[in-house]
Amino acid sequence: MTLQNVYPWIQEAHREGYAIAAFNANTMEQMQAIVLGAQAENAPVIIQVSHRALQYVGSGSEIRGLQYMAALGQVAAASVDVPVSLHLDHANENEVLQAIALGFTSVMFDGDYLPFAENIATTKRLCAIAHDAGVCMEAEIGEVPKPDGAAYDPNEIALTTPDEAETFVQATGIDILAIALGSVHGLKDKSVSLDLARLQAIRARVETPLVLHGSSGVNNEDIAEGIKHGLAKINIATQLGKAFTGAVREVLAADGELVDPRKYLGPGRAAQVEAVRERIRFVGAAGKA
Ligand SMILES: [Zn+2]
Repeated sequence: MTLQNVYPWIQEAHREGYAIAAFNANTMEQMQAIVLGAQAENAPVIIQVSHRALQYVGSGSEIRGLQYMAALGQVAAASVDVPVSLHLDHANENEVLQAIALGFTSVMFDGDYLPFAENIATTKRLCAIAHDAGVCMEAEIGEVPKPDGAAYDPNEIALTTPDEAETFVQATGIDILAIALGSVHGLKDKSVSLDLARLQAIRARVETPLVLHGSSGVNNEDIAEGIKHGLAKINIATQLGKAFTGAVREVLAADGELVDPRKYLGPGRAAQVEAVRERIRFVGAAGKA
């Protein structure tokens, strides 16, 4: 299929109490593993590209990175017959506009560096542009600490308040809202709990489907409970990297003479397909394409 706007599937998931998985891709093999895993589970899926992935793929140029990922995403989506969306994660204004022009079907504007009123104004403006192009718009209120950010104090993270969430959604018209419930980007182990009472308070005030960032570090029970209470897009990155790299490490450890990259990237990709399938089943999206 061509790249799809996955918002109708997110809405359906939200209504029915499951979630759509959004997987980060940093390389071609990772992108292939995402669509192959989704195909195997007959699930709609979101390929997600971070700012740091753009810098990596574009050898330091975010725009070159966007061009690469847009082209790869189109080929990846066309290679399967389940709905695939290409999403730009945590982007600035210029990147959002470039991504829409290049055919991304979903974008997230991250205005957390802006004062609240300015964040609302910019998000609203970009949201109108996204909707004109048939693109799904995500934005975030509250703080999910970033892996390359400053050290954080778990007790000092700015979690999303129901008031802010309601004001922000009503003022901007966004399709999906990322909220901060205590998760952190980039954690390697499932050591964090979610503030589920806060989620329920937000859910009571906001009808918009909600997004969990940093799910790799959150225990499974809390993710499952969160999905029941309105989390309809679950972002997954570090767990995939663990599966991919674990397989590569095993192959290289077993053969010190190996030089052909296909001989270790192939097993990495295969291991990630299984990790993608496991998470798709976990969020309840298997069979929903
Ligand atoms: Zn994020």
